[in-house]
Amino acid sequence: MKKVMKFGGSSVKDAIRIKRVAKRILKEKKKGEEIVVVLSAMGDTTDDLIALAKEISDSPSKREMDMLLTTGEQVSSSLLAMALSDLGVNAISLNAFQARIKTNSVYGNAKIKNIDSERIQNELDAGRVAVVTGFQGINKNEDMLTLGRGGSDTTAVAIAAAIGADICEIYTDVDGIYTGDPRIIENARRLDYISYDGMLEMATLGAKVLHNRSVEMAKRYNVTLVVKSSLEEGDGTRVLEGKAVEGLLIDGVTVDDDVARLAVIGLLNEPGMAFKIFNELSKADINVDMILQSVGRDGKKDITFTVSIDDAKEAYNIINGLKERFGFEDVSLDEKVSKVSLIGAGIQSNFNVATKMFEALYNVGVNIQMISTSEIRITVLVDEEESARGAKAVHDVFLND
Ligand code: ASP
Ligand code: MG
Repeated sequence: MKKVMKFGGSSVKDAIRIKRVAKRILKEKKKGEEIVVVLSAMGDTTDDLIALAKEISDSPSKREMDMLLTTGEQVSSSLLAMALSDLGVNAISLNAFQARIKTNSVYGNAKIKNIDSERIQNELDAGRVAVVTGFQGINKNEDMLTLGRGGSDTTAVAIAAAIGADICEIYTDVDGIYTGDPRIIENARRLDYISYDGMLEMATLGAKVLHNRSVEMAKRYNVTLVVKSSLEEGDGTRVLEGKAVEGLLIDGVTVDDDVARLAVIGLLNEPGMAFKIFNELSKADINVDMILQSVGRDGKKDITFTVSIDDAKEAYNIINGLKERFGFEDVSLDEKVSKVSLIGAGIQSNFNVATKMFEALYNVGVNIQMISTSEIRITVLVDEEESARGAKAVHDVFLND
């Protein structure tokens, strides 16, 4: 069997853990598996490197930032290859250049275009474990780029697809995907299985276990993903194509605090206003998520929407700067909001799900500010202070068994 084993930063945060990972790999190797390992940088290395760059410069070039950040994964990968050698495992570390991981040229958030898997395959054929640096690629100018924070998961899935691996195992400090964040929902439980779509919603909406692009890619190339603990034995959670179910199959409840709400008050109630406002934001690459427009009255209307917390100030400034031109009354920004989402197959076709969710929130006195739904998700925007209480109540109604 051919497998990719990916270990996150906390699993390789010091020498002891790196040696422990090496032992884990030895165990798999003894079973006769062909193994590619993908690693993150040790512990908080990436954060530390970013902080170091800030000490040097207020606005370092993106190219140099990527050159700096890609060193983190080279450190962990070479150290692991040494640890494997000491255990008698034939291993070689490869960076993105050597593993031929080609990306586009979006520094800091590059997308993988293709992987020429010949080198990796040659190492496997020679009986070696290939230890590949996660989170990085090279562009057509042979610059080193990074794939965006948490991008090592995406490297692992991309390699699994490129070499035709049977499985891609993501080892982390939790033992799988949970129905809710165990830090706020004590009775959250581990899922044995989750569909790609369910996982994608969970990853996008705040369950920070997997990089959402890795799930997208796994779905596209039909790579079976397993999320499991690097510290203890266990089956973890398998992410795969969902079985066709007609009934309701709830995956979990997520909380995302990294959102902000903007409200544009007193816009003219005439065609084109929404377009004009959102066009200015899209020119600045700001994604808008939940959108609510009030019913027009006295020739005026309001538009309320959410953006990611990182874009909040910029979005506010852009819109504030449009006041004169578009003639609206005011714009407000609230950064203390959270999204609480219920995720699962069959949500839209079981109409009482929404009612039950709203009732659960009502019962614990949580006020809903905005609502959005998709086929497999209901999201409400609530006050940040109330999000944990609301999530717990929703989890209790749907997942307490
Ligand atoms: N080391 C990178 C980060 O901290 C990539 C990863 O861990 O997946 O974001
Ligand atoms: Mg991660």
